[in-house]
Amino acid sequence: MNTCCATNENHCDVTFAEGECSDGMCCFTCVIPTNNGHISFFKSLWKSGTGSDHVKLLVTSKGCKEELYDSCKFLNFTISKSPVNSSLKMDLRCSVYKSRPSQCVGYPDRAGESLYQRTRGPCIFNEYTAPSAYKKLVYKREWQASYAILDRADAIRNIFVGEDPGIARDLILKANGVHLATISVGKEEQDYVLIPIHRQTQNILYLSEKHQPITTIKQAYHRWGEKIQRNLQNHYGTEWETQLKNAIEMEEKDAGKRYNENTASNIEC
Ligand code: SF4
Ligand code: SF4
Repeated sequence: MNTCCATNENHCDVTFAEGECSDGMCCFTCVIPTNNGHISFFKSLWKSGTGSDHVKLLVTSKGCKEELYDSCKFLNFTISKSPVNSSLKMDLRCSVYKSRPSQCVGYPDRAGESLYQRTRGPCIFNEYTAPSAYKKLVYKREWQASYAILDRADAIRNIFVGEDPGIARDLILKANGVHLATISVGKEEQDYVLIPIHRQTQNILYLSEKHQPITTIKQAYHRWGEKIQRNLQNHYGTEWETQLKNAIEMEEKDAGKRYNENTASNIEC
């Protein structure tokens, strides 16, 4: 991937719209099997969402090859300008929400690649926003996610409704952290506008018991033990329990240290 800088003049972040699950990350990764196989033949004839042909999810981490995910064909991706302060909001929504496949209805409580497969882990956005100690243990790396929008007028016109595509492109490029990049997709190279995904948790759907934020390794393991154990066994083999125990102890020690430092500075004040 070759990146090049944008001007980032307005220093505003592109944030998610105020609405539950506006990040839509699971519609790129967890809910959909390869080739949109969760969509029945009849539904595959339905109209696509605005994002599916033009937006990908890019995952990068130090020392690892970048990963690029396609979205479900029904994903709508929109960017709009706030009338109040001209900040930009992204909103990722299912365009067939009322008729979406049952595994999407069940996500994140029940989902997977078949109707009967229960979700074994937290929703992917909760993992993205999890503390660093969790990610280092369970993924053995920290990862950064961005939305990659094809740098083409038709793509931007579809996404940024009601704005001239040239003006819309300039607005996006002026936002904080937005970059241009050339990415290899199969045998071709394509130009993309990369919008970093912020770990902005206030709009996540926290209605379900399973869909709670990850606060510590211990809490996550208690809730999603099966999935976490599978990852740990892949990474550490028979040593997985020792690694888990050590990471929990370290996390608790760090939390204790932070508590003592806070208490000491409060006393000094
Ligand atoms: S918060 Fe979780 S369930 Fe909601 S869209 Fe994001 S990944 Fe999907
Ligand atoms: S059908 Fe809708 S909810 Fe299900 S993966 Fe596609 S866009 Fe997401």
